[in-house]
Amino acid sequence: MFKPLNIDKNDDRHSEKPKDVEKVRCLIIGSGPAGYTAAVYAARANLNPVMYEGLQPGGQLTTTTEVENYPGYPEGVTGPVMMEDFKKQAERFGTDVRWGMATKADFSDLPHKVWIDDKKIIEADAVIIATGATAKYLGIEDEKKYAGGGVSACATCDGFFYRGKDVAVVGGGDTACEEALYLSGLCRKVYMVVRRDVLRASRVMADRVKKTPNIEILWKHQTKGLLGEKNVVEGATLIKNKGEADEAEVKIKIDGFFLAIGHKPNSDIFRDYLESDTVGYLKTIPGTSKTNVPGVFACGDVQDAIYRQAVTAAGTGCMAAMDAERYISEKFH
Ligand code: NDP
Repeated sequence: MFKPLNIDKNDDRHSEKPKDVEKVRCLIIGSGPAGYTAAVYAARANLNPVMYEGLQPGGQLTTTTEVENYPGYPEGVTGPVMMEDFKKQAERFGTDVRWGMATKADFSDLPHKVWIDDKKIIEADAVIIATGATAKYLGIEDEKKYAGGGVSACATCDGFFYRGKDVAVVGGGDTACEEALYLSGLCRKVYMVVRRDVLRASRVMADRVKKTPNIEILWKHQTKGLLGEKNVVEGATLIKNKGEADEAEVKIKIDGFFLAIGHKPNSDIFRDYLESDTVGYLKTIPGTSKTNVPGVFACGDVQDAIYRQAVTAAGTGCMAAMDAERYISEKFH
């Protein structure tokens, strides 16, 4: 590529720096409970936080219906209303909430840089990553058709609506076992739809599931589709022993269909710089929100494979803002 040799530094036509660069003290990426809570604390600490909301403003909670386990809402609240409340509270203290998606990051040097929509560059003294995780789905059409009508990726969020009913949980890992055990305390019957003849889950969880009388494991079963009138789940069609001589179609009657086949943390653009586990969950120093890069903090589901609740995400969002405030005041004052 041609580069002019005699660069006049006052002539910005030759500047390698993109024009749209903005310097901020505290950048928050992601707008779920973790990001908004970080914003409330960062704004109240005078860090003038700038938040980019990402592809799904409000995060995963905006896809759930009723939230009944977040303290402070005795009558329950819908996910979208709760996230709107969080946003109002963050804005009340001056958070600059913006549309936009972080598409690239460079944490190799100070200031930390994050690209927004591949165009604008934000340079930040501190970066708080609250990009969350995305539940994996099977990819069958019926998951969309019955969304909000009995399909869920969170038993703790939605299980209550299936009290005394029959449900299915797809997956054989620790999450699936945990969801099945949770649902077994609420529902009449829980089917676990497992594609192999073993559970991937830890021994202790697997044993607990196997000992629970109202959980039935359907070994070597895969989901073909869902059944039900008016986009409300009434059953599922499964394939048993797929690809084998005795392959057979099986129908089960259920009211709820829970996916528990894993989550994907939204950490791809940060993983060149930040330590993560094999799945992609960002690693933080235990008891803090600090990543391995000073000035970069992680909170919420992007760093939590285990709890993944709104209230735990909010708690770690608070930690991230407090850690960022301490870092900025020690480093830059
Ligand atoms: P995992 O990746 O461990 O398990 C996913 C499960 O879903 C596997 O049984 C897998 O089957 C199955 N699966 C994946 N894709 C499909 C598909 N297309 N169709 C049918 N089944 C499918 O994810 P988890 O969310 O369970 O766990 C993630 C991590 O978090 C793990 O390290 C786990 O130990 C940890 N965790 C720990 C908890 C705890 O300690 N309390 C609680 C929850 C999670 P297959 O085995 O055939 O690949």
